Formats: sequence, C-alpha cells, structure tokens
Amino acid sequence: MTTFIHKYKCRFCDLHFSTFSWLNDKPNPHCPECGQTESFIHWIEETEAQIFQFIPGKAKLIEVEGELIDLEAAKQAVESGELP
Ligand SMILES: [Zn+2]
Repeated sequence: MTTFIHKYKCRFCDLHFSTFSWLNDKPNPHCPECGQTESFIHWIEETEAQIFQFIPGKAKLIEVEGELIDLEAAKQAVESGELP
C-alpha cells in the first residue's frame, strides 16, 4: 500500500516534521512546536515501505497502547505475515 509522507518546515519556528497518510489528500497541518497553521514549506514523497521503518534515530522500541514492542520483532512479524 502506498504511503504518502508529507514533510514540512514551519516558516515561523523552523521546526521540521513529517506526517504519514494512506490518502493523497490535501493536508491541513499545524506545527507541533508553535501551533501555527498558516505558513509551511511542504514536500511530499511516496513509499511502499511500512510506516514503522521511518522511526527517527536509533530507536529500538516502540510503544503501542502502553505496551513496549521490539521493533525488530515487529518487522519480522510483518515480513513473515503474522502482522498485516
Ligand atoms: Zn512552528
């Protein structure tokens, strides 16, 4: 399934952030740092990869509903078909 990655740079506070969507709709972002909704530089990319592959840094664990999940185990579960 194609995932659209909307990448933004806030033109007020210079924060860079990304949002992910399965729809190529027109996004209506707000800056998570300063809250403004008016002025962004916006890039869009498409990928067929799983969203969890874009976790920044060297994070090893993810939290889902309060439960820590091992990222490598999650990747293997998707590759083996255990998880969608
Ligand atoms: Zn901002």
